[in-house]
Amino acid sequence: MKAAVIRKPGVVVVEEVPTPRPGPGEVLLKVEACALCGTDQRVLTGEKHVDVPIVGHEITGRAAALGAGVKGVAEGRRYIVQTVIGCGRCSMCARHRENLCEAGFTAMGYQYNGGFAEYMIMPKVAVDQGCLIAIPDDLPAEQGTLIEPLSCCVNGMAYIPMETLEHVVIFGGGIIGVLNGLVAKARGARCVTIMDVSPERLDLLRRLGLPFDNLVNSRQTDPADWVKEHTGGRGVDAVVVAASVKALVTVGMGLLARAGHLSIFAGMPKSDPVDRIDLNAIHYRELNVHGANSSAIDAYLAARDLVVEGKVFADRLVTHKFPLADFNKAFATQSDPASGALKVVIVP
Ligand SMILES: [Zn+2]
Ligand SMILES: [Zn+2]
Repeated sequence: MKAAVIRKPGVVVVEEVPTPRPGPGEVLLKVEACALCGTDQRVLTGEKHVDVPIVGHEITGRAAALGAGVKGVAEGRRYIVQTVIGCGRCSMCARHRENLCEAGFTAMGYQYNGGFAEYMIMPKVAVDQGCLIAIPDDLPAEQGTLIEPLSCCVNGMAYIPMETLEHVVIFGGGIIGVLNGLVAKARGARCVTIMDVSPERLDLLRRLGLPFDNLVNSRQTDPADWVKEHTGGRGVDAVVVAASVKALVTVGMGLLARAGHLSIFAGMPKSDPVDRIDLNAIHYRELNVHGANSSAIDAYLAARDLVVEGKVFADRLVTHKFPLADFNKAFATQSDPASGALKVVIVP
């Protein structure tokens, strides 16, 4: 089979490799589509280390062969892949929150070969955990790849009562900011504002016709002034920081109304994650602060339903598709801010 193999940091070669065979408990997936994600980009440039030469974790596939003893998976059926695999023994895994596994989770495309290949193996631990999540036969494969990143947004907002909120601000107009905004809308937030510093990015979102109420250039317009003006001085009910910029956490806190919700969705630079914040702002104004770290089964099922029911405009989000042979072209497109790419998908 063909696969995009990382030879060394920054060098990916699409080449012929042996097609894997499923051992006991394993499932061979024929990859139908696999999307490029920001994390993959950091791996491909050598900024982040993974244990395997083939990455890709936003996957739609078809069960092509089952190893001995596999239960609950049907040969020929279509699935998307839950990325995170827990230890199965800790108190978090007992509650199906494998994304918070106390032993540290492993993941498809990080510790196990991923989806930038014609075929891939789902290991027994993942199959046993239920990481193959069935999708309808008529769901376009590229839309299926959105379920993984969407599930992370569903998870990050699980404790924010979107149904009751008047106004939500999202910092970051990349695919993750967009998916957060779409989940907020789908759950009933009345007004969703996307803020980004790139006019090209905001233009792209406008062209795609996504259902956001405001697209604000936060380089030209001060977010605090804008929010004051548009909320009668009250502030917004929730802010999601979907860009790895520490200052946005403090800026975001300053935008919140009393009892507001702040989601720190984006991870901050590992070399310098510390910042000063006014703890009394949280205390007296009863602010709620939320973390977000990948996702687990409940969030996947909710995300799958949002995509299948057409509630998140999944048909507009994949802007580019490439065959596996053009992997490097796809990677360059995803990395180029001028390319107009929101989500780039490989269709092997
Ligand atoms: Zn991802
Ligand atoms: Zn665990």
